[in-house]
Amino acid sequence: MSEILESYVAGTWTKGAGTGREVLDAVTGEPVTRVSSEGIDMGEVVRHAREVGGPALRALTFPERAAALKAAAGAVQERKDELYALSARAGATARDSGVDIDGGAGTAFVYSSLGRKGLPDGKVVVEDDFIQLGKEGVFGGRHVLTTPHGVALQINAFNFPVWGMMEKLAPALLAGVPTIVKPATPTAYIAVAAARIMLETGALPEGSLQVVAGSIPGLLDQLGGQDHIGFTGSADTAATLRGHEAVTRRSAHFNAEADSLNASVLGPDAAPGEPEFDLFVKGLVTEMTTKAGQKCTAIRRALVPQDRMDDVAQAVEAKLAGIGIGAPGADGVRMGALVGTEQRDDVRAAAARIAAAGTVVHGDLEKVEVIGADADKGAFMSPYLVRVDDADRGEPHSVEAFGPVSTLMPYRDADHAVDLLARGEGSLAGSVVSNDRDFVTGVVAGAAPYHGRILVLDRESAPESTGHGIPMPQLVHGGPGRAGGGQEEGGLRAVHAHLQRTAVQGSPAVLDSLG
Ligand code: NAP
Repeated sequence: MSEILESYVAGTWTKGAGTGREVLDAVTGEPVTRVSSEGIDMGEVVRHAREVGGPALRALTFPERAAALKAAAGAVQERKDELYALSARAGATARDSGVDIDGGAGTAFVYSSLGRKGLPDGKVVVEDDFIQLGKEGVFGGRHVLTTPHGVALQINAFNFPVWGMMEKLAPALLAGVPTIVKPATPTAYIAVAAARIMLETGALPEGSLQVVAGSIPGLLDQLGGQDHIGFTGSADTAATLRGHEAVTRRSAHFNAEADSLNASVLGPDAAPGEPEFDLFVKGLVTEMTTKAGQKCTAIRRALVPQDRMDDVAQAVEAKLAGIGIGAPGADGVRMGALVGTEQRDDVRAAAARIAAAGTVVHGDLEKVEVIGADADKGAFMSPYLVRVDDADRGEPHSVEAFGPVSTLMPYRDADHAVDLLARGEGSLAGSVVSNDRDFVTGVVAGAAPYHGRILVLDRESAPESTGHGIPMPQLVHGGPGRAGGGQEEGGLRAVHAHLQRTAVQGSPAVLDSLG
C-alpha cells in the first residue's frame, strides 16, 4: 500500500492516521500516495499559526518579509525538476508544469519585488494625506493598515498545486499573516513537496506556513474576524464555506475563485489571412490543450461572426488534429492526461450535454489514441470542440466541462457578442481578438461588468501578450458572479486586502507621526 502523505503542522511533519484517500497516477493508474488528516488537531494548527507564526511574522518589517518570500520562491525555482517529476504523475506535460511551477515561483518573485518597492520600511502602511474634518484644520483623519492577529486559511483547487499555493501565500506573508494551506487531495503530493522545499530554506519563520493534506474538520470553527479564508475550487464548495458561521456570524474575510465559462470573441474584421484570425485560432487551441483544459481561465466559449463559423471550425480542427496526446515526456506528446479518471468521466458527461445542443467538430468522447501510455489506465481524453449554431441555447453558457472542451458559436453584431459574453453570468477572463478599435472598445465597455479581466489581442500587442489564460500577479485575478465574486492578486492591493484598514482621527501633528 502507498504511504500516507505527510502534513506540516505545529512545527513537525506528521502523518494522518487510517488508510486515507488513495491518489492514483493520472497516466498509469498506479498508486502515488494516500491522503489523510485523521488525528491531526485542527485547533492546535490554528493555535500554532496564531501564537507562533503570527508574532514571528509581525516582528518582521515589510522588506524582511519580502526577502523571506524571495528566498522561498528561489528554492522552488532551483529545485523545480523535483516538482516537474511529480507534476508529470498528475498528467502534466513540461509546458503545463511550467505554468504551475515556474508560474508559481514567478508570481512570488513579483510580489516580493512589489513589496520591497511599494511597501514602507516598517510594519504599518499609512494611507492618505491629512483629510481635514473641521473648519480650522486642527482636526482630521488618515487611514492606517495594520496586520490582523489572525491566520490565512488557503484552500486550493487541484489544477495548480504550486501556483495556486504561491499566489495566496505571497500576499499573506507580505502582510504578516501566517498561512495554513489545505491543498486539493488529487495533487496534494505536489503542493506538499513545494511547501517542503520552501520550509527547508529556513527563510520562513516557524508557524508562518503549515500544510494540512486531507480534510480540515472543525478548522473553520476556530476562525473569526481576524482571519482570512481564500478559496479556489467549485462553486458548490464555495457556497458551503461562505455559509459557515466563521464567515456569516464572526465575519472572517472570505474570498472565492470558482468555475467560470470564459469566452473569447473574434472581431468582424479578422478574416482568414489577417493576423488576428491566426491569433484567435492559436489562442483557442492553446487554452483547450494546456493542462488538458483544466484551467479556471480556459476558453469555454469561442464567439465568432456568423459568416466565419466554417473558416474558424476548419482552422481549429486542423490544429487540434495535430495535437499528440499521451504520457508527459513521450515523443510527440503535446497534451497530457486529466488529473484522474473520475474527473475525466465528469468532463465527458458535461461535454456530452453541450454536444447535445450542436454538432461535434473535433474529438470523440468514447475513444482516444495515446502515445506512450495505456488509454484504459490513464485519464486521457481528446480535445473536444462542439459547434452550436444557435448561440442562444442555454447549455454552452451554463455547463462547465473542466477539461479540453470548448464550444464554437456565432454572434450577429457587437451587441449580440456582449449579450452572449454576459450569459456566462460572471467570468474570470474574457478576450477580444480584433484590430477594429470601435468594435473592441464597445465590447470591452459592454462586457467589463461581467469580467475580472479582459485581454484585447491584436497584431500590435501579440509579440508581448501573455495570452488569454494567464493571470498576472500585478493585476486583479477573480471575477464577479459565477466566478466566485472574489479578487485575488492585483499586486499590492492583494497585500492590503489582508490588512486591517483603520481610520485614525486627530490633530495634524498626531496624524503626521503615524508614518
Ligand atoms: P472542489 O471540489 O470545490 O475542491 C476545492 C478545494 O476545496 C479542495 O482543496 C477540496 O479539498 C476543498 N474542499 C472541498 N470541500 C471542502 C469543505 N467542506 N471544507 C473545506 N475544504 C473543502 O473543486 P475541485 O474539483 O478541486 O476543483 C475544480 C474546480 O475549481 C473547477 O470547477 C474550477 O473551475 C475551479 N477552479 C477555479 C479557479 C479560479 O481561480 N477561479 C482555479 C482553479 C480551479 P479535497 O480535494 O480534499 O476535497
